[in-house]
Amino acid sequence: MSKVLVIGAGGVSSVCVHKMAMNPDIFSQIHLASRTRSKCDAIAESVKQRTGQDVATYEIDAEEVPAMVNLIRKLEPSLVVNLALPYQDLPIMDACLEAGVDYLDTANYEPKDEAKFEYKWQWAYHDRFKEAGIMALLGSGFDPGVTSVFAMWLKKHKLKTIRQLDILDCNGGDHGQRFATNFNPEINIREVTAPARHWENGKWVETPAMAEKVEFEFEGVGPKNMYMMYHEELESLARFNPELERARFWMTFGDEYIKHLTVLQNVGMTRIDPVKYQGRDIIPLQFLAAVLPKPETLGETTKGKTNIGVIATGEALDGSGEKTFYINNICDHEDAYEETGNQAVSYTTGVPAMVGSAMMLQGAWRGEGVFNMEQFDPDPFLDMLGDQGLPWNVKELDGPVPF
Ligand code: NDP
Repeated sequence: MSKVLVIGAGGVSSVCVHKMAMNPDIFSQIHLASRTRSKCDAIAESVKQRTGQDVATYEIDAEEVPAMVNLIRKLEPSLVVNLALPYQDLPIMDACLEAGVDYLDTANYEPKDEAKFEYKWQWAYHDRFKEAGIMALLGSGFDPGVTSVFAMWLKKHKLKTIRQLDILDCNGGDHGQRFATNFNPEINIREVTAPARHWENGKWVETPAMAEKVEFEFEGVGPKNMYMMYHEELESLARFNPELERARFWMTFGDEYIKHLTVLQNVGMTRIDPVKYQGRDIIPLQFLAAVLPKPETLGETTKGKTNIGVIATGEALDGSGEKTFYINNICDHEDAYEETGNQAVSYTTGVPAMVGSAMMLQGAWRGEGVFNMEQFDPDPFLDMLGDQGLPWNVKELDGPVPF
């Protein structure tokens, strides 16, 4: 029985709070605070209707550390779950340190003025969290999050070492819009337009954004073009699996999405530096995000499935030579919407955020300091993930990926 404080009231938060309310034996009191209180109230109302549970709501700017510390001290939660944006990671970690409370998030810190996400800023908090006797769990979404746990499950049950690893993220959903992003547009476009980076023979190899394309047949979705890009879990996977010779991340995009994004990039609408417009500074990408469809409004019309997983090749645990396994989850947009009022991209992130919170609160995953998903036993996490709406599947492939 534990009290939690969730920060942020977007699609991911909505799913996570609904799933927490469906597990009242673990999450006995849920408090929800965000920049716009009406969004917290709308989530609380839906949770009440669907589960009968109460959620208390507050307005907060999470970048105001003293206000965050006051709220945490007033509520005395066992855990602060950060489901706002990556920009707020460090101020919320500062507030947790000052108030002496555990922390969890789903995306690593990114400075506003530079499209660069790295764990170094958050890893730098390790000693201070350790000295304070508190724990931070970083990246407990799907990717990052479940993808790392999938890799560690393979390493525990199937492979002695992982020689090469590919993360395949496919969203086969159709929302009926010409161009829309399925999570926060600003964060999504910064991620997609950044140069691709993969891990090879002990170093990062950088290639231009969207330059590497491969067609892959995804179960439950069909053939899709996927593009190599950088994703943050590559950094923690490489750190905690030093034997990795190669690790890559792939994401599917439709031709329409690529066409629109290319034009927007070419005309400068994805820039993140200030531009003078009618006497004031505006950031083109922030303006673009304001005119694009809000991801939380896409749930009702989105049909199709997501299929996200890991293909890993390495020496088999049973001594039978080199083997390749594919471990993945398939999630249906319409089922996710029916259960929580949100599409599958929010669902596949919000459920692991709830499961990671449960791991910490129940003591299955414990430590003092700052931790990544790779550092804990994958079994209890994946058992609960399957029970809570994201069942997963593992199969052996004939050999390493041909691309
Ligand atoms: P949304 O943009 O829908 O929601 C973000 C929420 O954070 C909004 O309610 C917003 O408030 C709030 N917020 C923003 N700034 C502040 C602030 N200064 N103080 C308080 N609240 C603030 O995003 P999503 O729900 O799609 O994503 C949430 C997080 O999940 C992001 O960090 C994203 O990167 C991550 N993510 C992780 C994935 C994974 O698999 N690991 C996949 C998808 C997303 P307001 O409503 O006022 O704008």
